[in-house]
Amino acid sequence: MKAIVATKDHKAEVVEKELRPLQTGEALLDMVCCGVCHTDLHVKNADYGDQTGRILGHEGIGIVREVAEGVTSLKVGDRASVAWFFEGCGHCEYCVSGRETLCRTVKNAGYTVDGGMAQQCIVTADYAVKVPDGLSSEAASSITCAGVTTYKAIKESGVRPGQWIVISGLGGLGNLALQYAKNAFGAKVIAVDINERQLEFARELGADIVVNPLKEDLGKFVQENCGGAHAAVVTAVSKAAFNDAVNAIRAGGTVVAVGLPVDTMDLSIPRLVLDGIKVVGSLVGTREDLAEAFQFGADGKVVPRCQLRPMEDINDIFTEMEEGKIKGRMVIDLTNA
Ligand SMILES: [Zn+2]
Ligand SMILES: [Zn+2]
Repeated sequence: MKAIVATKDHKAEVVEKELRPLQTGEALLDMVCCGVCHTDLHVKNADYGDQTGRILGHEGIGIVREVAEGVTSLKVGDRASVAWFFEGCGHCEYCVSGRETLCRTVKNAGYTVDGGMAQQCIVTADYAVKVPDGLSSEAASSITCAGVTTYKAIKESGVRPGQWIVISGLGGLGNLALQYAKNAFGAKVIAVDINERQLEFARELGADIVVNPLKEDLGKFVQENCGGAHAAVVTAVSKAAFNDAVNAIRAGGTVVAVGLPVDTMDLSIPRLVLDGIKVVGSLVGTREDLAEAFQFGADGKVVPRCQLRPMEDINDIFTEMEEGKIKGRMVIDLTNA
């Protein structure tokens, strides 16, 4: 089968690969498609260590071709996901308390185990989340990482219907965050981006207010016009966005960090204590979060923007990503390889 692997010189390459036989509890998927995430770029660049030869991809959707002994959660013909949270140990304090993505011995698809950018993929059946009918495989692939990450972040923010939420950064993650906040949680959205075109897109998606922090002091604007936001989800990869979000929330509010700038944020301790604010990090989502995020997609409440591309385009896609040219999600078509 053909697969996209990381190479020694920090590129991706389409190669021929043989899969090993299935072991107990595993399923073999015929892959349909796999989205390209910023994390794939980091993996192939060896930012998290050398992964030469590793099959990339953690936004994969495939159809079950075969199940090994002991599998009861999937059957032949089901559609299922290959996600960043590929498998947890199943018995640690995190795995048994609904926080399985924090498992210290987690396996990550396209990083510590082979991922979804291939014609076939072996998954641990109990960890591959089924895709509901009525959701296209392309849309499901975007929800497998970007969608569930933002859905979970909004859940973590505790925002309730009718309350104000700041969504900072309206790129691949942020536009899904906006749709989940608005259409799944019934929140009122303040969309924040330094790019006017992204703000226009946010308006089309139903943002109640849009703010460009280069033109307006976000904290001041939100405090004056909304009495402060109840929550903020920061997907922007910038320290300034984190500081702005803290300034924009009201007492008792929560800032959820999703974007990952390699930086520290300024956090006034009096602000933290006297205003009782919370600042929390959120990492992808559990299997249950993904199943919920898929269902909102199947119900038409969240519509990811994706574009299908052939396997051979992978290095071009990474270049476009580095140059910030990508709108929505690029998804590798694995059916015509
Ligand atoms: Zn991802
Ligand atoms: Zn665990």
